[in-house]
This record gives sequence, C-alpha cells and structure tokens, in this order.
Amino acid sequence: MLAEIKGLNEECGVFGVWGHPDSAQLTYYGLHSLQHRGQEGTGIVVSNGEKLRVVKGEGLVSEIFTPKVMEELKGTSAIGHVRYATAGGAGYENVQPLLFHSQTGSLALAHNGNLVNANFLKHQLEAQGSIFQTSSDTEVLAHLIRRSGFPELKDQVKNALSMLKGAYAYLILTENELMVALDPHGLRPLSLACLGDAYVVASETCAFDVIGAEFIRDIRPGELLIINKDGITSEQFAFNSTKSICAMEYVYFSRPDSNIQGINVHTARKNMGKRLAVEAPIEADVVTGVPDSSISAAIGYAEVSGIPYEMGLIKNKYVGRTFIQPTQTLREQGVKMKLSAVRGVVEGKRVVMVDDSIVRGTTSKRIVSLLKEAGATEVHVVISSPPIKNPCFYGIDTSSKEELIASDKSVEDIRELIGADSLTFLSTEGMVEAIVKTEGTDGFCLGCFTGNYPTEIYPDTLQYYYQK
Ligand code: SF4
Repeated sequence: MLAEIKGLNEECGVFGVWGHPDSAQLTYYGLHSLQHRGQEGTGIVVSNGEKLRVVKGEGLVSEIFTPKVMEELKGTSAIGHVRYATAGGAGYENVQPLLFHSQTGSLALAHNGNLVNANFLKHQLEAQGSIFQTSSDTEVLAHLIRRSGFPELKDQVKNALSMLKGAYAYLILTENELMVALDPHGLRPLSLACLGDAYVVASETCAFDVIGAEFIRDIRPGELLIINKDGITSEQFAFNSTKSICAMEYVYFSRPDSNIQGINVHTARKNMGKRLAVEAPIEADVVTGVPDSSISAAIGYAEVSGIPYEMGLIKNKYVGRTFIQPTQTLREQGVKMKLSAVRGVVEGKRVVMVDDSIVRGTTSKRIVSLLKEAGATEVHVVISSPPIKNPCFYGIDTSSKEELIASDKSVEDIRELIGADSLTFLSTEGMVEAIVKTEGTDGFCLGCFTGNYPTEIYPDTLQYYYQK
C-alpha cells in the first residue's frame, strides 16, 4: 500500500561505507534506494580520516544532496540515514546522522529502530547533568558512550549498548573506525556486503544491488562489527540474544527486491498470497492488488486460486509529497489522487482485492468504493497479514491503539465499515509459514498482531504510545 496515506510508516533506513574513495556518492545511491523507509529527512556524515563532515536536511535524498553538495562531500568512509519522523518528532535537529565532537575526537550516529527505555535513560542522564540537543532517542547512546569509564571506544560502545532496550541498528562513525551494532533481538534488518576492498552496510540488500556490492551476510542479533584499517572484527555484546525480526518488514516495509535473512521479500509476499487463497477461497472473476506492496501477494493469490490477476488499480506516481499531510481529510484526499480503479478491468466483475494490511480502515474503505464506483459488482477484500491490534514500540509508526481499527472491532464490523462484500485476514501461522516455510512462529516479532513483544516495554513508553 501507499505508506504516506495508510498510517503505517517505517521510521528509518541506514547505509554506511568503509574504505572507498567515493564513499559519499555510494552513500547517496544507497540512501536513494532506501528512500521508501523514510522521506522526511536525510543526512550523510563523511570522514576523510582526519575529520567528520555532515550534510543533512528535511526532505528527500535528491532534494538535500544536490550535485553541488555532493561535489564537496569527500572522504573514504561515510554513514547515511533516511528518516520518517514520529517518536522524537520532526525538525532539523532530529535529522540523522547526529554528529558529536569532544576533545578526544568526533563520533557520528545513525539509528534505525526505537528504544523502549529511552525516556528512562534520559531522566537518569539528565539527573546526572547531561543536556540533550534533540528529542530523538538516538542521542541517548552518545551520552552513554561518553559517560562510560572504559579507555577504549569499543568497550565504551559495548557498555553503552548493554544498557539499551528495544530495536536498534546503529552505525557509528569516527575519524578512523566504522562500528555496526544490532540489538539482541535483531528486530530490524541490517546486512553487510563488500565492494572490492571496501565494506558496505545497509538496512536492506536492495541498496547493495544499486552500487554493485556483493552481499556477505546479515548482522547477527547482539553483534558489534568494528571496521578499520586493520580489517573487520566481530564481537557479541549480548549473549542471550534471540532473533525476533519484524514480520512487517516482509509484509509491507521492505522493498520486494531485498532479501532479509536470506528470504526474498517478493517471494515471501507471493507465498502469503498463495496461503490466503487456501485460507480464503472466493468465487470471483479477477484478482487485483493494491499497488505497490500488495502486488506480489495478489500474484500469489491468483496463481493458487486460478482466478486471473489483472491491473484493477493503478497508482499515480507523480503526485507530489506536498499533498501527503498528516490529517485524516488530507490522507483521504491523498488516496483519491494516488489511486485509480481501472474501469475496463473491474466493470461488471466480482473482484478479489488483495491488500497487505489494514491500519485505520479509511484507506481500505476508499479503495473499495473506488472499485465499486468503477463498476465492480462485488469486492472481496483479502489481507495478507493478520489484524493489527496493537501499537509497535520498535520504530514503526502504527498509530495509537485507538486509531487501529482492529484493536476493538471484529472482522465483521470492519467489513461493514469498509463496505466490502467479504473480508479475510491471513492467520498469524499462515503469515509466518509463508515467510519461512516451516511451522511455528519463532524468530519473528509479531507484537502488533499478538500483543506479545520480544522485550519488556517501559511504563513511560507505554504511556506515550497510548496517549499519542
Ligand atoms: S510490533 Fe509489529 S511492526 Fe513492530 S517490530 Fe514487531 S512486528 Fe514489526
């Protein structure tokens, strides 16, 4: 579906390069391919081995990094970030990477994910004299690193990481080192590749393909990688780590050409559609998917059901970002402008409309009515994930619990509200088995579906999410 109008937004993507003369340019291309993970702000910090330089701003990668800016960003290592502003708020000061200077050197941080004990740590740090420049949870790590008493940066970082709870994929750049850390549950994707002698890290593997880098492996939960002139070393900073990768990365957030934990996202989505066709057999004339992220599942549904897949909905790719505003009225206007039903395909037909998720329900309602206005005789909505009943605390803006339509409504109530002739959600087991092709739900975070989160959630974090 269309992230900006659905109310389900990824907060960030990170990209880093070590040991390449065109590190800033490569980071630009990498961030460009991660743009779907955040469109509100972006930044690059580059190191020439002596000092760090930052360029960042609110806007798209192509808007901030003009050819003139890129000409001046030179160095052999770089980290970059794309951001969707939610927790911590919007504003230039929260655009990452964050850059800190001290008498012993500089340090830049880029973070994908969300800490669930950030407020708790902030209170403690402020009580001890820290002053924060931003409202972002990312800054907490910098303060913890500085306050650690260990002489070596590596140990300072390990000590600081051990105090964090929640989801984090961190890139830390100094004048002469790149560090890469993933939380003990591996909630967000993070992978390593090489480009000749250079190392590259990215939130998604699609960023490697665009620069011709060769995938090496995924970063392990609780792992700290240190890359410097001596090569690459790996250490575990957390030993009780268990993988709980976000299932929504497969359902919705990641690009279909990315592989997460060795599983191609398009293939996982197609398998979800296949499984849906088994769980929800429907008599219909055409199957259509809501562009872009639901097309793969629609193809899978069509393949197994034997009902032809047709392009019943098309997306207008040229609607400017200015139209996407965070109010309900404007969001609904955004749906009208961004999607059209193809009358020649749906008129007089019974349509299976495949979508990846329902958040508030208003978008689904509008799409059902678009299809009916275009002459569809029946619209059967099938969703390639279970109902989202709970908020996400790990860096995905799923709205507050009150705004989630499935938090207090039955499937039948939702069907009626969106005006569909039938409504089916994929089962939780069906979703996980479609991704990994094995039974059981181990290895995934399913918190927004089941309410069971892989970490404890601190009371002030709960309060924030239930009140926003
Ligand atoms: S709660 Fe949902 S969106 Fe958040 S990390 Fe878990 S599966 Fe992903």
